[in-house]
Amino acid sequence: MEFDEWLSVRIDQTKAAGLHRKLRTMNTAPLPKMLIDGKEQIVFSSNNYLGLAYNCHLVYAAETILHEFGVGSSGSRLTTGHTEWHRRLEEKIAQFKQTEAALLFSSGFLANVGVLSSLPENGDVILSDQLNHASIIDGCRLSKASTVVYKHIDMDNLEEKLKETSNFKRCFIVTDGVFSMDGTIAPLKYIISLAKRYHAYVIVDDAHATGVLGEKGRGTSEYFGVHPDVVIGTLSKAVGTDGGFVAGSQILIDFLLNHARTFIFQTAMPPAICAASYAALEIIGESDEKRRQLFSNVKRLKTNLAEMGYVVKGHLTPIIPVIIGDPKKAVIFAEKLQEKGIFAPAIRPPTVPVGESRIRLTVTSDHSSNEIDYLLKCFYCIGKELNMI
Ligand SMILES: *Cc1c(COP(=O)(O)O)cnc(C)c1O
Repeated sequence: MEFDEWLSVRIDQTKAAGLHRKLRTMNTAPLPKMLIDGKEQIVFSSNNYLGLAYNCHLVYAAETILHEFGVGSSGSRLTTGHTEWHRRLEEKIAQFKQTEAALLFSSGFLANVGVLSSLPENGDVILSDQLNHASIIDGCRLSKASTVVYKHIDMDNLEEKLKETSNFKRCFIVTDGVFSMDGTIAPLKYIISLAKRYHAYVIVDDAHATGVLGEKGRGTSEYFGVHPDVVIGTLSKAVGTDGGFVAGSQILIDFLLNHARTFIFQTAMPPAICAASYAALEIIGESDEKRRQLFSNVKRLKTNLAEMGYVVKGHLTPIIPVIIGDPKKAVIFAEKLQEKGIFAPAIRPPTVPVGESRIRLTVTSDHSSNEIDYLLKCFYCIGKELNMI
């Protein structure tokens, strides 16, 4: 079979399963109102929770350091790519996360893969939440340790699995802080107390929690007042820039710098992005205003959708999954939203369980009350039209 022919058979299977994806072009900066494929839409699916991606202080910081240091970093951190802006940002992240040290990776994805493929050894076991992010799953696949999956935030099930780990040398528990499809918060306090009892180590991926959860936005650790062994995060969501990091003890960082292949064999982040990230963390650290606005928006949306009669999943986070049920209906719902100028995706199996197809809304601190009211109005009209509420 010819190469393209073989691929077209495979892509036809993707299409037949209703899982074919395509790109949509954003023609404007990441703001609540954007031109998407040339049409104005209010975006309720962005990870820019604090509206920092287009913040003038970040743009200014990036621009200044861009002129000083150029565009690319020209090497890995251990060769020619390490600048004072990498150092300053790592110090800032450690200070923000209240750990001894931090290490930058080019993305959160690579941070997860780097940690999970280097830290647990042959003969160890990783207990992983069923709904963990794809990068955690891939990290587990690359690890020499065994992986056991436990039911999503089910602490009884986690304990059962922990009881079965005595044949392994060491045990690691890995969890998202905030789960990206369900908007649930991992019960980290409970996880850490279980870990202590069963002599396990805890790794938290705080991608959606950094800048969002906790009084100062430090993440899931601050929210629960705990200190996991390893905290992983991304700068690409609430922080509004790009890149990932690990925060923890000095010895952990020294270990990863020497052993995490996604750190060693990757070109360093551009210094200008480090400078913009530094500016973002300063803004997050200095004021709670954006976070207060964010949660006021979250509450307004969740309360009103539930009052209309929708099943809204998750805890109090900016990820708001509205259950539609049937996958085709979810797609129709998303199309109708788009006709009305609202951009929010339908999420279907296998990303979510059968019967739980949903519209996954996210909200940011920058959404105005008018924009939120308009979204609610659209949900009301479409829900009535489709006999859902
Ligand atoms: C987005 C995300 C990542 C990946 O972060 P990037 O910086 O985009 O690579 C990792 N884990 C979770 C839970 C995420 O939501």
